Amino acid sequence: MAIKQKNVRVRIAPSPTGPLHIGTARTALINFLFARKHIGTFILRIEDTDKERSEKKWEKDISDGLVWLGLKWDEGPLRQSERGDLYKKYLKKLLDEKNAFYCTHTKEDLEKEQTEQAEQKKSPIHICADRDTYPETGAIMRFKNPGWEITFSDAVRGDITFDAGLLGDFSVARSTEEPLYNFAAVVDDYDMRISHVIRGEDHISNTPKQILLQKALGFPTPLYAHLPLALGTDRSKLSKRHGPVSLMEYKAKGYLPDAVFNFLALLGWRPEGEEEIFSREELISKFSFEDVQQSGAVFNIEKLNWVNGMYIRKLSLSDLTDLCIPYLVEEGLLKEDSIDRDMVAGIVALEQERLVVLSEIGERTRFFFEDTVKYDWELLLWKDMTKEALHASLETLKTVLESAPDGIFSDAQKLQDHIMPYAEKEGNKGILLWPLRALLSGRKASPGPFDILAILGKERSVARVEYALDLISS
Ligand code: GLU
Repeated sequence: MAIKQKNVRVRIAPSPTGPLHIGTARTALINFLFARKHIGTFILRIEDTDKERSEKKWEKDISDGLVWLGLKWDEGPLRQSERGDLYKKYLKKLLDEKNAFYCTHTKEDLEKEQTEQAEQKKSPIHICADRDTYPETGAIMRFKNPGWEITFSDAVRGDITFDAGLLGDFSVARSTEEPLYNFAAVVDDYDMRISHVIRGEDHISNTPKQILLQKALGFPTPLYAHLPLALGTDRSKLSKRHGPVSLMEYKAKGYLPDAVFNFLALLGWRPEGEEEIFSREELISKFSFEDVQQSGAVFNIEKLNWVNGMYIRKLSLSDLTDLCIPYLVEEGLLKEDSIDRDMVAGIVALEQERLVVLSEIGERTRFFFEDTVKYDWELLLWKDMTKEALHASLETLKTVLESAPDGIFSDAQKLQDHIMPYAEKEGNKGILLWPLRALLSGRKASPGPFDILAILGKERSVARVEYALDLISS
């Protein structure tokens, strides 16, 4: 058993500028696993300093998504928009101690500088002429970069060294009222006593800036762990082109939170062995940064579908029925105030072994709920059977079903015992059973005919045989 680390405090720090991205949910989940493993604290911080792009509705989507996934935070949500005084205090400290200054250059000046640097094939850095004169005001506040070499030890990638001089005098705030990301994050990580910053690899280049700011402000440096980015199957950065990227879209499609948790947890690391299905507790106890891979983590929707199916099979029929009912209501197949729960459970039971996502339930079971099913009559033909032979089969089925005792119509086994002898008499069972199954469901693939009969009952089943007879006679 690995030694527990003390005083672990981690955070997920999303910006509420869009719905909770599946990649952010994965980062939150790794923070959560690490916090739980070390009996630490998982904090939600809303990085809403960008007033124009931040919206309350996105903050709600983010917190709803985290709760749905079972990632309830222990502290927060702390909002950067409500912590202005704190940032002001430290911005003033930077200014007072001459570690920051106002830059008087206009946008045009900076663009001109960049163009000239590009022409001379130099990297675009702004080492500001105002860094030693400390003007009273200016368009932006910059950090006076001492240009040190910065090395930090990343829990996933090992030692990383940056020549921080290449970062130039980077901006920290628009004014003492308007801090920018790198600065606000540093102050918050300190103020919240964050022990480990666990985030996506796309933030690696921010880390030397944040370490320089920590040093200037006299803050300790937390430990860093940069996770491999989630990639699409073509190995480009995961985007809408690869499928839904908003976590709540997965909820709407009928992925189970336990399955998404299991799948996202293993995006980029895996415990030893071939096993793919793990409980939350197992994932918490097995998680270790040593097992996290450095290369990008491919998000394979086929795998998620498989994992989701595994979790659907494990549900009790009663729970699965409860989960399916809203989808059936939504598709207009059930009315909320008149649900025959036993019948629905009987139908759901027939799909439990096949269902991939809950939202498929309506499409797969529509024929149970609708009065009539529509199909091309050729669907009823068993192999190379003629239309005349089909007609004879349908007549036989009509007689067999009409003469069957009413009492057996709720019992698939009794229906099978009753109908099988007639099917066997045909020489080939398909001659009766194929058209029977096809006329009951209207599809090429469905559960077996006896299961369907037992749910439809005598009257509706006979009506479907009559419909098939009409169809081939017209
Ligand atoms: N707001 C940043 C993001 O959403 C947070 C980065 C960090 O964790 O420091 O990517």
